[in-house]
Amino acid sequence: FIFSAVRMDELLLEMGNLVKLKHIPVAAEPQRGPKVDISFLKVPDQDTELVVQGNESLLKVLFLNLLDNAFKFSADNTARVTIDFFTHNIQIQVRDNGIGIAPDELNKVFEPFYRGANAHATRGHGLGLSICKKIVQLHKGHISASSAPGKGTVFTVILPHA
Ligand code: ATP
Ligand code: MG
Repeated sequence: FIFSAVRMDELLLEMGNLVKLKHIPVAAEPQRGPKVDISFLKVPDQDTELVVQGNESLLKVLFLNLLDNAFKFSADNTARVTIDFFTHNIQIQVRDNGIGIAPDELNKVFEPFYRGANAHATRGHGLGLSICKKIVQLHKGHISASSAPGKGTVFTVILPHA
């Protein structure tokens, strides 16, 4: 895989817009269409704080999958993305106000073909998160999930700058 300098804020904006298109219900009123809020937990001093040395296509797949899940497993049409950065890594959280994941399933969701008890009404193969995990591992990063059933879910991705 070719690695290059990838600006994560730009990539997240692009993937947010892409996933919104996928989740627009037919005949949606514009003001009720899907929303992706992207915000910084602090203001970056320099662009390098937002850069990850990574494979751009794979990083796009990673966040497309997380955002797709956020819409798929919630009803309020909103996904929130926060970006925080540190000396050696960047932390990106994808948050929804959806149906949530049971505590005993939180680790299993990253296994290939695992679909939660909450997934019956949705389409999918249980592959998205296993692919996300592989991509994060390839970048020597870390991915985890936390959830409050009935309230929402947060996926946390940590990627080293280099
Ligand atoms: P695919 O991604 O292959 O289309 P999928 O979305 O069901 O199918 P994964 O993305 O791997 O599969 O997710 C695995 C399971 O984890 C889901 O079936 C669902 O049970 C649970 N899950 C994932 N993301 C969320 C979320 N944001 N909220 C609630 N449950 C989730
Ligand atoms: Mg999925």
